[in-house]
Amino acid sequence: MKTYRIATIPGDGIGKEVVPAGREVMQALAEGSDFRFQFEDFDWGGDYYRRHGRMMPDDGLDALRGQDAILFGSAGDPGIPDHITLWGLRLKICQGLDQYANVRPTRILPGIDAPLKRCAPGDLDWVIVRENSEGEYAGVGGRVHQGLPIEAATDVSMMTRAGVERILRFAFRLAGSRPRRHLTVVTKSNAQRHAMVMWDEIAAEIAREFPDVSWDKELVDAATARMVNRPSSLDTIVATNLHADILSDLAAALAGSLGIAPTGNIDPERRGPSMFEPIHGSAFDIMGKGLANPIGTFWSVAMLLEHLGETAAAARLMRAIEAVTADPALHTRDLGGQATTAEVTQAVRERLPAPQTAGAPAA
Ligand code: NAD
Ligand code: MN
Repeated sequence: MKTYRIATIPGDGIGKEVVPAGREVMQALAEGSDFRFQFEDFDWGGDYYRRHGRMMPDDGLDALRGQDAILFGSAGDPGIPDHITLWGLRLKICQGLDQYANVRPTRILPGIDAPLKRCAPGDLDWVIVRENSEGEYAGVGGRVHQGLPIEAATDVSMMTRAGVERILRFAFRLAGSRPRRHLTVVTKSNAQRHAMVMWDEIAAEIAREFPDVSWDKELVDAATARMVNRPSSLDTIVATNLHADILSDLAAALAGSLGIAPTGNIDPERRGPSMFEPIHGSAFDIMGKGLANPIGTFWSVAMLLEHLGETAAAARLMRAIEAVTADPALHTRDLGGQATTAEVTQAVRERLPAPQTAGAPAA
C-alpha cells in the first residue's frame, strides 16, 4: 500500500474551510484504493503571525521538503497588510521550493452558467501557465525617503534566460500533451522592450524543440479581448508572473466563478513537493460562514492526484465534481445557489465512483 505524505496549510479566511473539506474528500478517495494519505497540518498564517511575528517559522520549508505534495488554502488576513501575508507564506513557499510553473486549467463545468453568451461550454478549455519564480514578483526593488516629497519606490521585474527558458519549455511540453497541441505566448514586447523581447526570442528558440506544437504570440492587452471574443482560438497559454495572474482571474470569471478555479504550483523537476490550491483568496466577506465554494479546492486535489500519478483517482474525483456542478441545487452562493460548503463536500463524497469503476463511461 502506497502512503503519500500530504502537508495541509489552510492559512487564512475561507482557506480554513475549504482545505479541511479537501482533506475529507481525499480520505474518502483513499477508502478502498491501493494508496493512503498521511496528513500533516500546519497552522501557519495570520493567527500564527499574531503569536510569533511571522507567517510561518523560519525553518518551515524544511518541514515541507519531505512531503509528497502540499494542499494550500489562502494567505490573507483582514488585520495584516496583504504584501506581508502573501510574501510571508505563499510566495515564501513557492519561491523557496522553486515551484516555478504555476498551472491553471480552466473550463466551463457542467451546469455552470458562464457569463459569455456566445461561448459554448466546449469553446473554453484552456490551461494557463504562469511563470512563478521571477518577473514582476521577483521581489527586487526598494523604497527610500518614505513620507518625504522625494520618496521613491521601485518594483523591478527581473527576467533571466534560465527562468524564461524553463517556463517556456514546460509550456510547450504541456501544450504538446493536450489534443490541440497549440501554445499562445503572451508578452508585452511592444512597450516593454527588453525582457519581453527576450521572451519572444527565447520562445522562437524553444519552439524548434517542439516541431509538433503549433504556436502564436499575443500582446497581453489583446489577449484579454481574445479570451472574451474568440475563446476557442486559445488552448495553452504561457505568460509572465503578473500577466498570467491577471489573465487567470479573468479566465476563472469567464468559466463561471473564482470559487471553482484550481492551481498547481509545480516543480517539474520534482526536487521537492509541489503545492496545489484554489486560485481564490481569503474571501473576507464570507469567511467563517460556511458558504465558501469548495470546488476550486477539490479540482486542485484532482491536480495533486495527477501529479502523484494517481490518474484513476483524479478521474474519479473529476466525475464527482462534474456530477455536483451539474445540479443547481448543489450550487453555492457565488454560483447563484444556496448550498453550503458542507453540503457540497458531502455531495461530492457521495458521488465518488467506486475505485474499480474508475475510467468506465459515465452512465
Ligand atoms: P478573494 O478571492 O478572496 O475574493 C474575491 C471575491 O470572490 C469575494 O467576493 C469572495 O467572496 C469571492 N470568492 C472567492 N472565493 C470564493 C469561494 N470559494 N466561494 C465563494 N465566493 C468566493 O480575493 P480578494 O478579495 O482580492 O482578496 C482577499 C484576500 O485574499 C487578500 O488578503 C488577498 O491578498 C488574499 N489572496 C490570497 C491568495 C492566495 O493566497 N493564493 C489569492 C488571492 C487573494
Ligand atoms: Mn491572483
